[in-house]
Amino acid sequence: MAQLLRGAPVARALMDALAPRVDALCARGVTPTLAVIRVGERQDDLSYERNVRGRCEKVGIAFRSVALAASCTQGELMDAVAGVNADAGVHGCLMFRPLPAQLDEKAACAALVPEKDVDGVSPLSLAGVFSGDDLGFAPCTAEACVALLDHYGVALSGKRACVVGRSLVVGRPLSLLLQARDATVTMCHSRTEALAQECARADLLLVATGRPKTAGAACTRPGQVIVDVGFNWDDASQAFVGDVDFFACEGAARAITPVPGGVGSVTTAVLATHVVRAAERMAF
Ligand code: NDP
Repeated sequence: MAQLLRGAPVARALMDALAPRVDALCARGVTPTLAVIRVGERQDDLSYERNVRGRCEKVGIAFRSVALAASCTQGELMDAVAGVNADAGVHGCLMFRPLPAQLDEKAACAALVPEKDVDGVSPLSLAGVFSGDDLGFAPCTAEACVALLDHYGVALSGKRACVVGRSLVVGRPLSLLLQARDATVTMCHSRTEALAQECARADLLLVATGRPKTAGAACTRPGQVIVDVGFNWDDASQAFVGDVDFFACEGAARAITPVPGGVGSVTTAVLATHVVRAAERMAF
């Protein structure tokens, strides 16, 4: 049976490591502060906001909510982003997406200064992930996958990694982060031929498709480590499920992340880490 790579211990270790850094900032009169831009009152946004706020405040990161009406205009959204950019008391900004259809999400993301773009949504942040330069921050979920593997001592260098999914939020930045750690990366997507063979060759299989059971038994092999980024509501089981068929894969794999309780639990801890790093970059 595969080792379960749970996210909670990883998140705890990341948050514990932040405490002395927050203390050092506070000693200089700087309170690391995260602003969240939320448009409308979607239940999943509100619940994620509560979660992020709780986790940040626990470690001494201040939290500001910038709430706009679901019917807001592009001008109002751009003003909110400009306000965050200009506010010296805010070190990081998270903007909930997707935004309502009347809004130009790309323009709002591009307007955020990379120094405060703690979820890696602006083109400059993504350029930093691409070039390996310290321009902004990597998207939190992609970095959470690497943090989780590091926590459990999974070797990346020289290993064959297969990333399934090529979104700008997860798959693409994740493949670059793995390359930066000297993994040999194959990227798969909805047009990949022989997906199962590509996956089964990998030492590390990382799946982010938004489709339950994208990876099944034929995608794994003995000794493989599987990271399931997926988070999908399943009506049949009335539970959240990943993109990997957990029960079909756990028998063969060496280790696998559970859903829920895997990557998702690490993501907010990475976000908090980015806010503290942003405050340090500005303060020191
Ligand atoms: P997107 O819909 O933006 O991208 C999905 C990607 O998967 C695309 O590249 C698509 O290929 C590929 N894909 C879709 N179906 C298949 C298939 N059958 N076989 C191979 N590839 C396929 O999704 P996201 O990247 O935003 O999210 C992916 C998953 O990660 C979701 O389950 C989401 O809920 C989860 N997630 C979890 C987070 C967390 O913190 N735990 C945060 C963010 C996302 P193509 O490009 O060809 O269309």
